[in-house]
Amino acid sequence: MTAMELTTRAVHAGREDLTDLGLHAAPIDLSTTYPSRDSHAEAVRLDLAGTGVDLGESPIYGRVGNPTVGRFETALANLEGAESAVAFATGMAALSACLLTVAAQGKRHVVAVRPLYGTTDHVLATGLLGTEVTWSSVDSLKRDIREDTGLVLVESPANPTLSEVDIRAIDVDVPVLVDNTFATPVLQRPIEQGADIVLHSATKFLGGHGDVLGGVVACGEDFARQLRQVRMATGGLLHPLAGYLLLRGLSTLPVRVAHAAATAGELARRLAGHPGVTKVYRPSIGGPMVSFDVAGDPHAVIGAVRLVTPAVSLGSVDTLIQHPGTLSHHIVPEQDRESGGIGDRLLRLSVGLEDVEDLWADLDQALSKS
Ligand SMILES: *Cc1c(COP(=O)(O)O)cnc(C)c1O
Repeated sequence: MTAMELTTRAVHAGREDLTDLGLHAAPIDLSTTYPSRDSHAEAVRLDLAGTGVDLGESPIYGRVGNPTVGRFETALANLEGAESAVAFATGMAALSACLLTVAAQGKRHVVAVRPLYGTTDHVLATGLLGTEVTWSSVDSLKRDIREDTGLVLVESPANPTLSEVDIRAIDVDVPVLVDNTFATPVLQRPIEQGADIVLHSATKFLGGHGDVLGGVVACGEDFARQLRQVRMATGGLLHPLAGYLLLRGLSTLPVRVAHAAATAGELARRLAGHPGVTKVYRPSIGGPMVSFDVAGDPHAVIGAVRLVTPAVSLGSVDTLIQHPGTLSHHIVPEQDRESGGIGDRLLRLSVGLEDVEDLWADLDQALSKS
């Protein structure tokens, strides 16, 4: 399966056994507990779960794991080229588990490159989970590593400026975590470029329809075992129904991303020539995200769109627009927003699957109101 093309794997990974089971759609297992007549054998398996081993089909208790979620984990690990994946209730639950895992080993220092997703920035800047951050740049990462550094954390393309980090250029001896939410494994597979841990807010492109929250970490099996222990302790599991929707979302991910990326490229080209737009931000890897600075009032644009959905979040089938300064990055202090290049006139567009002409007509009329 790993030898096949990504589009094929997106459809089939995590479902290899279905035909032999006589099934087409993945079964949804809603069990909270898993019966057994052999409690001695269960005790042995529970000891394994305590060390973070994935118990598979019959995980003893629902907080230990879930077979439907397991299918999504298998599929996402396959797409990212990772040994394992561990799913969580949200992207922030996934990030928290990574931070708690390294902090529990006495490695509570994180070196991170801004800009980052607003709440990620907030958790690191405030030390809410007991970590300490040093803000760095790719060039100075090595210098900022300490004895107690547990993670290097970057986002690429970053939220919301779409600035990119050269992952291959990161040369450090501590685990490197890349938030790959904006790129998806369709456009970028950080593990192939030397990263150790890949994080997704599955809420965005992986789910793809704006109707499921989730998070997932793709990594080596050793780190995955530690994450499963933290997940069992903190209970931030992905719900099985969400696991089902995310597995289904993965099957159309390459098609959705390619189509939206083509539309986004055309919209970026037209925005760059629009008199109401002063700057357009596009990552070199392409993709469905476009950010831009407006000459006039960005809030007037948000108020004037009629087809485009004025909402925070991204990665849905419909096109979404939001103002990072008041929504996704409002939680980041103003001076830090500004130094991170997140200006007050910046708007972030997540392009969906609508026709490009309909989207342009709506953006053009909204820009004329600003
Ligand atoms: C949304 C987002 C998150 C947080 O994910 P949730 O599922 O909302 O918890 C983390 N990183 C990035 C880049 C995001 O866009």
